Amino acid sequence: KLQKVEENDDDVGEEELFPARGLFDEKSCLSRYESLWYRRRRGLKRRTPSPDLISKLRSYEARHKRCSPYTDSYNKTVDYLVQNSSTFSCKYVVWISMNGLGNQMLSMASAFLYALLTDRVLLVDRGVDIPDLFCEPFPEASWFLPSDFPFTSNHFNSRSPQSYGNLLRNKRNTNTNITDESYIYLNLAHGYDKYDKRVFCDADQTYLQTIPWLVIKSDFYFVPALFLMPSFQQQLHQLFPEKDTVFHLLSRYLFHPTNSVWGLVTRYYQAYLSKAHVITGIQLRIFRIKPLLEQILSCTMRENDVLPKIKDKDKDKDNNKSTSNLKNNTTVAVLITSLSSGYYDKIREMYLENPTAAGEVVGVFQPSHEEFQQTGKHSHNRKALAEIYLLSLTDRLVTSGWSTFGYVAQGIGGLQPWILYRPENPTAPDPPCRRAMSMEPCFQGPRSYDCNSRRGGMDKDVRHCEDMSRGLKLV
Ligand code: GDP
Repeated sequence: KLQKVEENDDDVGEEELFPARGLFDEKSCLSRYESLWYRRRRGLKRRTPSPDLISKLRSYEARHKRCSPYTDSYNKTVDYLVQNSSTFSCKYVVWISMNGLGNQMLSMASAFLYALLTDRVLLVDRGVDIPDLFCEPFPEASWFLPSDFPFTSNHFNSRSPQSYGNLLRNKRNTNTNITDESYIYLNLAHGYDKYDKRVFCDADQTYLQTIPWLVIKSDFYFVPALFLMPSFQQQLHQLFPEKDTVFHLLSRYLFHPTNSVWGLVTRYYQAYLSKAHVITGIQLRIFRIKPLLEQILSCTMRENDVLPKIKDKDKDKDNNKSTSNLKNNTTVAVLITSLSSGYYDKIREMYLENPTAAGEVVGVFQPSHEEFQQTGKHSHNRKALAEIYLLSLTDRLVTSGWSTFGYVAQGIGGLQPWILYRPENPTAPDPPCRRAMSMEPCFQGPRSYDCNSRRGGMDKDVRHCEDMSRGLKLV
């Protein structure tokens, strides 16, 4: 039976991240507070928010309430958008979903941080299934963009004349400033160009601050780009004295699975994982070239102590008591997530047919195998979110390089995974994997030049990612 979370003082620091309990109907979103218990049960290392972050979030919540859909302030700013009024009361970031769930969660958290830094309000386009997946994070006000908002999501793409990149391009020869726009679209997705990337330059931010509606479509975790901007650096360092906790804290604040997803998480966890002494998560993303079993075993058994080793038959041939006389009673649950079931079959079989060297009892589990990516199908993303969450509750995590699905799991869980290198050809990469430098996700589409000198820029806060040399991450 679940213990009441409030009885334990250890959770105080973590609960401070959230608005006061009385402001929410707890039953409508059980994960909001129950997740604390699951995390504590696994003894996951707590990373507490700074007092500055807590007060920033509380003042954000007040602003969100004041500017939320259909308030006078919102109505007035929509009037400004459709040019029925000459003033506006609030400034917004409208987030529109694109690509898979991992990409969506990374860009949503980035857009939220951008809203925190620039005193804006985040409104979220519902997309196909966002309300099915996530509870409302802010008290007494909705974060969803109303369906009668003057523009629909397909109004915005890289060809939109209102995209910041296109506005800059069109004005570049006229030597004039861009005029006051009522809204600007920020195209921050794979394939974006050097004009779009100017969003990450201080001089351009000065102009963008004056625009009440900024619409963002992105599939990136663009937080490292914000850390590279001198105008945001001081604030960011105050909010996040531990730089490697940015996504961890923001994701725990924002992403509370709805009851239907949380039911999948808790039922699965209780049935298959909760009794194990150690839970090891292995996320195997199927891209064009699949991870290789050889690579997985070499990473987890030969080069690192992530999975229990198999008993060496030759060395122990005199010892025929191996299966009945276990040296220890440790139970290990291996949670595999993948679109395919092939790895699960092989790893499960390996532990069934062979005793382990140290006598651990190993169970292997995989919640689903959806075979191929089906972004936009309701039950598909519910399962994906449940699996991301289950991976976040593991003690040790192995992820697949380049996969945002894995980045989100490690971030929510506060885990530094072993990252399997993405195979370039059908032979196993050597080395097969490496330990992540931090739990932060990788920004896979960094700006390509320094804003002032137009040269590539790096900084003490960021490093190139373990799994993608052009990417940047906070460490
Ligand atoms: P990325 O493509 O690996 O960066 O991650 P995304 O989450 O953005 O997109 C992949 C999508 O494929 C996910 O959102 C899921 O819908 C699906 N998917 C990929 N791997 C898995 C998996 O292990 N389990 C489930 N249930 N879905 C997966």
